[in-house]
Amino acid sequence: MCDKVFFVGVVERAILFNDKNVNSQGQHIVQLAETEAVERKALKGNVAHVGRSLIILCYSEISAKLTQFLNFHTHNFPPPPDEKSIYNLLIQDIKRFGEVENNWISLGIHPWYAHPEDWQIQLAAVEQLAGHKNVLAIGECGLDRGILLPLATQLTIFTAQVKLAEQLQKPVIIHCVRAFNELVQWQKQAKPSVPLVVHGFNNKPEIMQQLLAHDFYFSLGAALLQPESNAVKVLKIIPLSRLFLENDDRSIPIEKIFEAAAVQLEIPISALKNQIWTNFATVFNP
Ligand SMILES: [Zn+2]
Repeated sequence: MCDKVFFVGVVERAILFNDKNVNSQGQHIVQLAETEAVERKALKGNVAHVGRSLIILCYSEISAKLTQFLNFHTHNFPPPPDEKSIYNLLIQDIKRFGEVENNWISLGIHPWYAHPEDWQIQLAAVEQLAGHKNVLAIGECGLDRGILLPLATQLTIFTAQVKLAEQLQKPVIIHCVRAFNELVQWQKQAKPSVPLVVHGFNNKPEIMQQLLAHDFYFSLGAALLQPESNAVKVLKIIPLSRLFLENDDRSIPIEKIFEAAAVQLEIPISALKNQIWTNFATVFNP
């Protein structure tokens, strides 16, 4: 039995290393029923069920077995073969849900596309699909000082989505532009019970520290390719357990962002991949 076990997400099969059943790729397979028995016996609280399937990876073997990059937030679909992504389905594209539902999805009302008059109708559409097993997170949603919609209205719409996330116990992917004070104040009062991940973070280390003190996670993106960016400065001081990587709406392969981050961190890409998958296991298996 492995020393440490991670839940890695929604998949079509369960994998348990060191088990007797090995498939043609050398993966150790257990069926769900068996996994439940194993879980009861040995794995205790380390495994979460999402839908009817789960994947279990032994830490010591994870680098050899798990070759895909996790792209935490992307608007690109479909993902390339070397990537496992959380595809962000925008509210105006919600009719396309059926086309993308086999991928991991984040679903929510981006402040740019929130309708001040009928956002409740938009929210109802999100609510209808948000319980789907492949909707891993609510979002991106959040606060943006650069748009006309008043921040107070944005906060109402954002808060309603976090409430939904809490009902479903799913993390929230946050878009925040020049409204970090408001975001922190909100967190202090609301104290939501689900993980909060600020995506596309490219702000000063002091803002990162403030958010970190209030339990936020961070997803860093294409700004890591700019050596002088705030993202690079933040990367060097952020606890690695709080980090995700993404390409957002850019066409840059996620591998390039992992490469840039690994160079800055002076660690092998394989170690970074493992760290990010471990973080994923933490956030999606609270
Ligand atoms: Zn985005």
